Amino acid sequence: MPRIDLRAHIWTADLVYTGFGAPMRAGGVAVVGEHVAQTGPLQDLRRAYPDAPIEHKGRYLGIPPVNAHTHLDLSAVPRYQGAYVGFVRHVIQHTRRGARGLEAARRGMAELQSHRAAAFGDIVTREEVMRWLLTESPLPGVAYWEVIAPDPTKAAEVFREVRARIERWRALERPGGVRVGLSPHAPHTVSAPLLKRLAEYARLEGLPMQIHAAESPAELEYFQRGTGPLAAFLREVTGLSHPAPGMTPVAYLAELGVLEARPTLVHAVQVTEADVRILAEAGVRVVSCPRSNAGLEVGRFPWGLYGKYGVEVALGTDSRASSPDLDVRAEAQALLEAGLEPRGVFRALTRGGYRALGLAAPRLVRGTPVRQVEFW
Ligand SMILES: [Zn+2]
Repeated sequence: MPRIDLRAHIWTADLVYTGFGAPMRAGGVAVVGEHVAQTGPLQDLRRAYPDAPIEHKGRYLGIPPVNAHTHLDLSAVPRYQGAYVGFVRHVIQHTRRGARGLEAARRGMAELQSHRAAAFGDIVTREEVMRWLLTESPLPGVAYWEVIAPDPTKAAEVFREVRARIERWRALERPGGVRVGLSPHAPHTVSAPLLKRLAEYARLEGLPMQIHAAESPAELEYFQRGTGPLAAFLREVTGLSHPAPGMTPVAYLAELGVLEARPTLVHAVQVTEADVRILAEAGVRVVSCPRSNAGLEVGRFPWGLYGKYGVEVALGTDSRASSPDLDVRAEAQALLEAGLEPRGVFRALTRGGYRALGLAAPRLVRGTPVRQVEFW
């Protein structure tokens, strides 16, 4: 039988986050055998365990990370770099060739696990992927069913169909497993009456919701003036042309009442200060995908503004179609390299992710098994 080392060790890192309060500099955890014995400032741990060796574990030690936004079924699509409308064409092209499905989603899940994500938020477009995630996913999270339906005359019909699916799938949810969520794709790909109905349904049923919004400058131009490359693209593929709402995508969602369902907004790069105030007042959380944003040339996520208004931010990788891999820690790494404040970055990587998905964030306390302590 292997002998367990019962001497105390003190583990520390540049930043330690136990899930309580703010991430600590000069913090640590005392480990005895296979469990955490104590957490707190390094000086307290040294006093409690004067003979324990101190091991520096790297840049971060604490609760494990969450990938709050991905598209596992796009894992077989090659990465696109370039402006947003070109990216959408790229995804449509590969979708038509049959690149999306269960096999790609399984590959994506294996990748999430290899990067040690503790939970995930996935946008799902295939019935078989939804069923697989609900019944077999090895990780907890939310599977958001994606709805793309820009024609307002179809709103009632699409709504009935979506509701029937969600009701069927909810019966498959397992305790501690994946929950069913809803993702109206974006404010420009779902008609206003359908957006309203889906949001109301999500609010009444307590369904988690994610919406891609305020991602690209083209989206902002489309909403404010009805012009630009996204406006032209939408006219081309849908044959529909709507008058421009004359406001930002966030203001539009607020006006429709969609924010009352407290969706999580994905990207939310192209926002004004007034938009961020609206999101803060609505209690909306946002997911940032920094490497996808850089690759699709959509601009820089305004971390300072979100911090100013206390909006909870999570991190996601987006899909393999716009990101080099599904390692959400690499998103954090990119932000640290860009000079962002590490405490905010690690909080977004961990607690922000659990919050965005509506999951309880774990906490490192006396008795936590050491295998649940993440460091790198
Ligand atoms: Zn996405």
